[in-house]
Amino acid sequence: MKAAFIGLGAMGYPLAGHLARRYETLVWNRTFAKAQAHAEEFGSRAVELPEVAQAEVLFTCLPTSKEVDGLARTLLPYLRPGTLWVDHTSGEPALARATAAMLQEKGVAYLDACLSGGVAGAQQGRATVMVGGTEADFARARPLMETYAAKIVHVGPLGSGHAVKAVNNALLAVNLWALSEGMLALVQQGVDARLALEAINASSGRSNVSENLFGQRVLSREFPNTFALGLLAKDLNICAGVLEAAGTPAPMLRLVREFFQVAKRQIGDAEVDHTAVARLLERWAGLEIK
Ligand code: NDP
Repeated sequence: MKAAFIGLGAMGYPLAGHLARRYETLVWNRTFAKAQAHAEEFGSRAVELPEVAQAEVLFTCLPTSKEVDGLARTLLPYLRPGTLWVDHTSGEPALARATAAMLQEKGVAYLDACLSGGVAGAQQGRATVMVGGTEADFARARPLMETYAAKIVHVGPLGSGHAVKAVNNALLAVNLWALSEGMLALVQQGVDARLALEAINASSGRSNVSENLFGQRVLSREFPNTFALGLLAKDLNICAGVLEAAGTPAPMLRLVREFFQVAKRQIGDAEVDHTAVARLLERWAGLEIK
């Protein structure tokens, strides 16, 4: 079995590393030095772009569906029937379906297979994957994804993986924003932030944000740069598309998108970690959460 991985960013680099330990793995990255470093570190093989088409299963992990679609167009003349394309990008259901239809004309199957668990989950081989596509394609991809995932769920037909991921990340955004607001009010009134978190984390208001992110990134004042604010804002736009297509009531999830758009504009740097919104709220309040 020959695999290929395109996009050795914060997520792709460690994922492709796990893959390369078990399967022959070709790697390509726009900044080619990263592919060469990967080959040295994990025993993968850095190749020119057309060569990835020799793989039976081809993975992508890029910022948005637009880059994936662009690469699919570039690779189309080289791709062979029977290839399976597994896209780990947090992307858009509609564009993914269009890309899949284009690939299908070449006999190439496609799964949207979004990731969760962050960079730490990817490094530890404990990522979560939510997959849209056919049962048969899912069964083919599963053993390869098992090299880096602790939980793999086939959530439905093509596009469903992207849709579930978008809603998941909207929930992350709601929790991050809401906890930041609540903690500011508590600290302003003299409550110790660490003790407040300790109580919340043993109570019904806890979340991954309260249990992990907030202590590790905000209270520590480290704000380590692993998941860019711009990528979360992009996910909230995708979620808005999902809500629009469904036509179901969603005032809260629509609102959180607005909050993050304002935050992105005010912070003026989309590359900072998404937890920087807590710092923005601190600035508005003239107070630090510590
Ligand atoms: P990074 O910005 O770290 O990496 C992006 C990768 O895409 C790099 O390899 C970059 O190449 C490549 N790339 C960007 N533009 C192009 C292009 N036009 N053509 C070819 N390659 C390109 O992103 P992440 O790894 O953080 O995120 C990747 C995806 O995973 C996103 O959709 C994100 O939302 C999602 N995700 C991220 C998580 C996280 O915690 N970071 C968690 C879960 C999902 P180069 O090295 O040359 O810049």
